Amino acid sequence: MIKSITALALATAISAAPMPQKEKTPEWKDMGECRITQYCCACNDGSGHESSSGKYLEYGDCACSWLPIGTEISIEGEIFTVVDICGTDAIDIFIDTNECRCNLNEYKDVRIKVK
Ligand SMILES: [Zn+2]
Repeated sequence: MIKSITALALATAISAAPMPQKEKTPEWKDMGECRITQYCCACNDGSGHESSSGKYLEYGDCACSWLPIGTEISIEGEIFTVVDICGTDAIDIFIDTNECRCNLNEYKDVRIKVK
C-alpha cells in the first residue's frame, strides 16, 4: 500500500515537472519551414569567398534577402549567420568548395535568434 502511494506521488511529480526547453528557448523565434538552398565559391557569381557584407565566406555563413545581415538562424538545430544577400526567396547556405555540388532545395524548420 505504501509503495503504490509513493509510486503515484512520484509519477505526479514527474508529470508536473517542466519539460527541458533546450530547442525552443524564448530567444529563438520559430519561422516555420523555409526553403533552403546552397551556394559555393564556384556559383557565387564569380565572387568566390566575397559576400555583400564584406565578410569572407566560410562554412556557417548564409545568404538571405529577407533577414538583416548579422542575423543568427537555426536550421534544424544547426546555427548559421546571415552575411550575404540571396537573389531568391530561399536561405542560401555557403559551402566552402570550388567543385560545385549545390543541389539542395528543401524546406526545413528555421528559427531566428531574437536579441
Ligand atoms: Zn555551387
